[in-house]
Amino acid sequence: MLACSAFAQSNVVDLTILHYNDFHARLLPSDQGLGGAAYLASAINQERKSCPRCLLLSAGDSVQGSPVSTIYRGLPVFEVLRPFNVDAFALGNHEFDYGYDRINDFMAAAGTPVLAANFLNPDGKLFTGAASVIVERDGLRIGIVGALMQDLVPGLASPSKLGPNQMTATLDALRAEAARLKDKTDIRIALVHLWKEGCDQIVRELPEYAVTVSGHDHGGLQAMFQVEDRVGVRVKSYGVELGRLNLSYDKTTHKILKSDWRRIPVTTAAYQPDPVVAKLVDKWEAKVNLVVDTPIGVSNSAHTRDQTRKWIELVMRERSGARFSFMNSGGVRDVLPQGQLMARAVWNIMPFDNMLVMGQVPGKLIPAFIRGDSELDPDKLYSVASIDFLVEGWRNSKDPALRDFGAAMPLEGPFLRDALLDWIKAKKTVD
Ligand SMILES: [Zn+2]
Repeated sequence: MLACSAFAQSNVVDLTILHYNDFHARLLPSDQGLGGAAYLASAINQERKSCPRCLLLSAGDSVQGSPVSTIYRGLPVFEVLRPFNVDAFALGNHEFDYGYDRINDFMAAAGTPVLAANFLNPDGKLFTGAASVIVERDGLRIGIVGALMQDLVPGLASPSKLGPNQMTATLDALRAEAARLKDKTDIRIALVHLWKEGCDQIVRELPEYAVTVSGHDHGGLQAMFQVEDRVGVRVKSYGVELGRLNLSYDKTTHKILKSDWRRIPVTTAAYQPDPVVAKLVDKWEAKVNLVVDTPIGVSNSAHTRDQTRKWIELVMRERSGARFSFMNSGGVRDVLPQGQLMARAVWNIMPFDNMLVMGQVPGKLIPAFIRGDSELDPDKLYSVASIDFLVEGWRNSKDPALRDFGAAMPLEGPFLRDALLDWIKAKKTVD
């Protein structure tokens, strides 16, 4: 009996997975003292101290969301994250924002594998060079497999950002890679950047993965998503939370015997900034300070995301003279705060280099979500303002009516962000 239980015990090991997702270039903490690369680094270092068998995973969308990222096309973010010693990055949809070629620069700067099992170059080879990585921790062989959503184009990235490369079916790619790793690993982790449903589906339908660490949905999870012994985890975006998943795992039965998950709030009150990371953050922020930390006006109220979106649509109409305007809520990345407005606030709201475009479109082609209740003459031309990103999406839509509408809209115009900055500078106040 004793010998038997001692033997069983030796196959049960502990593993801790630290993880974050959707960092979105938020190098500095928010005005509320949440997040910040140097504080996230400290939280990670703190957790590592009580973590004998420990992994750090990043589930995609490291870039896009602050002036440093926009001005320097994402690269400084990977330089700042390098001292984190991440074990593997998943590729997120926003890693495509500066074009697929830029991903090669990200990989060089990351100094750690960037995993994408379902992203192929024109030769049919893995674009990032790796679908998975095997990490060994004190006798435990851990297979980490990365993947992202197949439907990247046109909803999340324009066709030109993907270039001649292609996305393949996410779950098929994960299944194939798990089969390849089966005999070489004791446990497998899916590290994915996917819509919520896809993340849950892996936990439900791919038992070859004990753990699914995911990103893309910025809200994070309140509790682990569990199916039998398998678990899925995801934290809030912008580096304001670090996830810590503790597992007790049986190498023989390939089952998780015990799991607990904590979301650790990353705040400036709770941590001292990590000096190495802080130095890198300061270096890059100093470069953009002169551009973005200048006062441009005052906001009389704290806007919600939808109020901010409506303000953008107002600016679009006033700047272009268009009768109708449309901005998607997903493209509004932050809100107009109350009080003094710095240019940075606008950069945070509109980090993308989207262009404000205006077309003359026959009434019959204008979709209901843009014309609202207005009664339009089907053959008369009306002016419509939007952004080039959405026009590209409409042109590539499955819906023929949207394709016709997209074809009637141009792709060129001034930067929307400049229009927003100019509007505040001219009016001095936003209600
Ligand atoms: Zn995403």
